[in-house]
Amino acid sequence: MCPVPEEETNGHRNGNGAANGDRSDYQAFKTSQASRPQSSNPYAPVQDFLSNVSNFKIIESTLREGEQFANAFFDTETKIKIAKALDEFGVDYIELTSPAASEQSRRDCEAIAKLGLRAKTLTHVRCNMSDAKLAVETGVDGVDVVIGTSSHLMEHSHGKDMTYIKKTAIEVIEYVKSQGKEIRFSSEDSFRSDLVDLLSLYSAVDKIGVNRVGIADTVGCATPRQVYDLVRTLRGVVSCDIETHFHNDTGCAIANAYCALEAGATHIDTSVIGIGERNGITPLGGLMARMIVADRDYVKSKYKLEKLKEIEDLVAEAVEINVPFNNPITGFCAFTHKAGIHAKAILNNPSTYEIITPSDFGMSRYVHFASRLTGWNAIKSRAEQLGLGMTDAQIKAVTVKIKALADIRPLAIDDADSIIRNFHFNLSADKERDLIELSHEEKKAFAQKEMELKNEAERSIDHNADGQAEVPSAKKTKTDIVS
Ligand SMILES: [Zn+2]
Repeated sequence: MCPVPEEETNGHRNGNGAANGDRSDYQAFKTSQASRPQSSNPYAPVQDFLSNVSNFKIIESTLREGEQFANAFFDTETKIKIAKALDEFGVDYIELTSPAASEQSRRDCEAIAKLGLRAKTLTHVRCNMSDAKLAVETGVDGVDVVIGTSSHLMEHSHGKDMTYIKKTAIEVIEYVKSQGKEIRFSSEDSFRSDLVDLLSLYSAVDKIGVNRVGIADTVGCATPRQVYDLVRTLRGVVSCDIETHFHNDTGCAIANAYCALEAGATHIDTSVIGIGERNGITPLGGLMARMIVADRDYVKSKYKLEKLKEIEDLVAEAVEINVPFNNPITGFCAFTHKAGIHAKAILNNPSTYEIITPSDFGMSRYVHFASRLTGWNAIKSRAEQLGLGMTDAQIKAVTVKIKALADIRPLAIDDADSIIRNFHFNLSADKERDLIELSHEEKKAFAQKEMELKNEAERSIDHNADGQAEVPSAKKTKTDIVS
């Protein structure tokens, strides 16, 4: 259930190698600026009294959770660069590794706390007095304390019982508050903790004035429905803010964050590209993709979305990974359309197959036209870009040739352009050029494929109402499954 994105007004970057990276076989197409439906959004999130979908804060934890990513090693200079980039993006908080972790971590915490960022700085420590004192001394704006409350962790990790946890929590919270700092108290492994224990602990810390309590799905086991139930129950017990932290072991980290907001959570933990312990947590970009669909005005007014790609590239380089192909927003094919049916519709009206407007993030859409799945509408647009006037019948004929060649071998954008140009030239030439250079075997295979496509087209001509260029029925099946 999703809304229709609003009309794009700032055009597209044309050509290759634009914002989405080097795209030698793709082309950014100018698409219709007309007819984005302007009706009210029938799929807007439920705005009940609990929901914070239109009023949430981000606690960005690339410099804490992200440091737990297998590949991460951030020196001070890199940490400062990342902190500044996140601040510029507009995150509300930046969470830093505990100063108790190492001497360098302590110095880095102090260095970032001194930067004078607009975002508040936090450090994340164990729930004991010596860690809390160390945290306060670094000069951060707030302290996030955490302790394991599941039977697994009480038995196998710190070995403390609930009475001890409650007593220590109260002592630490009162100390941090007395130092004029914000304080969050969180359980670890909340979804495998006893609910009565958890609620009585949170109720106790809420009564002494903790700023936030935290729910953490430390092992990534929770489902959106479990998240909704727990956060909603907690919302009825405490009056302070509720922070949530979701690991992505079972692929639910973004959905869980969204459900937590629907149930009344106020703060979401993220990291850039989702890096963190194991396969990480809710990614900043993925959360932005989810939230812009829910409330575009809120997200656009608060965050500098066009900075997202820059931050992801900065962090990807620092931890020596590539941004995954299927990354929301910035994955290399996030706004690439390939199937003929999709390309035709996108060229007419982008909202047909796009729920997010790429230009909101400074990105471009691409229509892939050098493939066997292409349709004549995409080729027509390309011919127009190349300044080659042809009738629809001629465009359909050259489309058959491109599809036939793409059945034999992968085509680059230059190959498709050469075919279109040479086909156009041959229309009025005395002596015809080869459409493209082919080996003897390729020529034979091409002639065979072209014949098959033409024969099939003649058989299906009366039934061809889907915008495909004389696509044979067998191929149609292939095309239709690319959705
Ligand atoms: Zn975590």
